[in-house]
Amino acid sequence: MTPTPARPHLRIATEEAFAPPEMIRLYEKILAGSDVDPGFKGLMGFYMSSPSERARHIMRCLQDLDEVRLAHMDEAGIDHQVLALTAPGVQIMDTDTAVSFARFANDFLADAISRHPKRFSGMLTLPVQDPRAAALEIDRGVRQLGIRAAVINSHTHGQYLSDPKFWDIFAAAEQHGVPIYLHPNSLPRNMIEPFQECGLDGAIYGFGVETGLHALRIITAGVFDRFPRLQMIIGHMGEALPFWSYRLDYMHQATVRSKRYESIKPLLKKPSDYLRENFHITNSGVAWEPAIKFTQSIVGVDRVLYAMDYPYQYAVEEVGLLERMDMSAEDKKKFFQTNAQALFGIGPL
Ligand code: MN
Repeated sequence: MTPTPARPHLRIATEEAFAPPEMIRLYEKILAGSDVDPGFKGLMGFYMSSPSERARHIMRCLQDLDEVRLAHMDEAGIDHQVLALTAPGVQIMDTDTAVSFARFANDFLADAISRHPKRFSGMLTLPVQDPRAAALEIDRGVRQLGIRAAVINSHTHGQYLSDPKFWDIFAAAEQHGVPIYLHPNSLPRNMIEPFQECGLDGAIYGFGVETGLHALRIITAGVFDRFPRLQMIIGHMGEALPFWSYRLDYMHQATVRSKRYESIKPLLKKPSDYLRENFHITNSGVAWEPAIKFTQSIVGVDRVLYAMDYPYQYAVEEVGLLERMDMSAEDKKKFFQTNAQALFGIGPL
């Protein structure tokens, strides 16, 4: 293996997953129930029961926030992880359980950060099922736990944040300056079949399609006209949305003019303007120079950040690949370090 080059910057990985053992016990109960969500069963049901080396590695690493994880970070040359409760987090739970477990998980996360403050920061888990409780948890998380970002694992039981009934969450996030990471979830019941029958429902393709759709729904619903200071984060090179920008702008304008859909209303700006002004994009799962540089050219070098997607994509050699990108030292430092420090409020390390 080619050694990872020395570098004049720190490396902050911004989409790194964990799971308290208590959540795995809860998931076991959900999976043992009747009428289990097919996407959840296909994803966590697989990881929690497969004897494969990859699945067992992931389950072990997800539940460790001390020796194992720190050793892997040292091995890969990762100075700091921004942690998020693994998908689907509390969004697969019933509403009451989601509200109480979100508090537990956020306290659990704050404990890990206080044990290793130079190595970890995090994102709050939100019980999206109860938008007012989720808004209160943002408030509690910022004030009591000092956590300054939040994660939402795409749809919640097939419902999307484009619905104004969820907008208390956006109001609280905007008010507190808390960026929301829109992370993939397994596909909802009414979408999964044509993906699952060919084995393409997961991280290979389905996650990106569904999360990209969700981000676009948020844009076209006018969320950023209502909450102009709100910042969101999407992984996996923006779930391909930067690549779609030209067509999205052209067809959005054409669709507004045609008055074909009640739900497509005029916006103050073009869809791509919101990508540039209200989104940050991480390269989680995509250690690929052309896609990273293209995205920088669309949304700007201040809005593209490094992420590993540990432990799902623990690929040490990718760090070296990214260090060897043909990119100025200044822009590389933004990508690996300073954009994340600014966005997540991470102090000197
Ligand atoms: Mn991830």
